[in-house]
Amino acid sequence: MPRRHAAPLATSGDILRLIRTGEAVTRADLGRVTGLSRPAVQLRVGELIEHGLVVERTDAPSTGGRPPVRLEFNAAGGVVLVAALGASRTRVAVCDLAGRELAGRRFHIDVEQGPDVVLPLLMDTWDELLGDRPRDQVRGVGMGVPATVEYAEGRTESARVMASWTGVVIPPIIHTRFDVPVLVDNDVNVLAIGEHRGAHPEVSDLMFVKVSTRIGAGIISGGEILRGALGAAGEIGHIPVRDGGGILCRCGNVDCVDSVASGTALLRELRAAGKDAKCIEDVTALVRAGDAETMAIVREAGRHIGEVLAGAVNILNPSVVVLGGDVAEAFGPLVSSIREVVYRRSTALATRTLRIEASRLGPGAGIGGCAVMVLDHVLSPEAVDDLLD
Ligand SMILES: [Zn+2]
Repeated sequence: MPRRHAAPLATSGDILRLIRTGEAVTRADLGRVTGLSRPAVQLRVGELIEHGLVVERTDAPSTGGRPPVRLEFNAAGGVVLVAALGASRTRVAVCDLAGRELAGRRFHIDVEQGPDVVLPLLMDTWDELLGDRPRDQVRGVGMGVPATVEYAEGRTESARVMASWTGVVIPPIIHTRFDVPVLVDNDVNVLAIGEHRGAHPEVSDLMFVKVSTRIGAGIISGGEILRGALGAAGEIGHIPVRDGGGILCRCGNVDCVDSVASGTALLRELRAAGKDAKCIEDVTALVRAGDAETMAIVREAGRHIGEVLAGAVNILNPSVVVLGGDVAEAFGPLVSSIREVVYRRSTALATRTLRIEASRLGPGAGIGGCAVMVLDHVLSPEAVDDLLD
């Protein structure tokens, strides 16, 4: 007779997950939840304590009897290094194992200088932020970069910014200084992850749309980031719009929403209309002044973006669409025309409970998202078991 499958035994990684989530916080609870014997629980908990991932706490003695020892996830038991790179703004930080920023720095670096300049600068900054902390406390690295990323490889594909980043495999470069797991995703996906966990943890389907120099989206579906087969999901910038005016996009197609309605496109249109608009701040000033021509151009861009989002909403049925990026943050008229078109053109069921909101965390969501991405990986039961092996 073939043996019946027994439930697989809970590993140390599983035990850590139960303690982290608060599902079981004493040795007795762990035994009950996992079905492991007392010595087996003891062995696994001992390993986790030894590796600094779990600490014991004794509650204040209650009346009578010995108080049970509570097990807690030790957020101070290591750090992760994170960096959210933008085309112009970059944030670098060291976070604890709960994703809290312990030390950080923001600066303007021109990522167009290429990986040979930017990556060493990031690693130097992490070194400085780590200070005297032992380097073996570093458990992982999480990065967001302004390029399409083949996620599994950490390879930048089509760089939205500049050719010098195209085809760069980032993890081996970081490994020369920090030999830990390195996770790299595109800047919009890390914003989506950060905004989801940080501001909308109760929602399982969310779309984060960044309207900035470029247009892109990060999709949370069923509580997880949706990357697609290789990592290109959410690249809504190259979906064509109707009546775009025949603008040639840098991808080679015509009338992509990115080429028609991004921050770059707005500046081009305004200059063509004879306005003095060199940067997004200039457009903001024109919008504030109520300049009629500017308002018309901004509203038209909003309609184009709304048209693409309406299609995405029909496919994905998110409960929240978050609009972020400096263009979305600055322009009320853009956001209202996006909302108007999405509500009009998406199906009734898809919009019944749909909320379209401004980003609550702003650019800060990037660092939080990088931390969540790397922590989800390095604290997963599989990764913890590998570490303890
Ligand atoms: Zn395009």
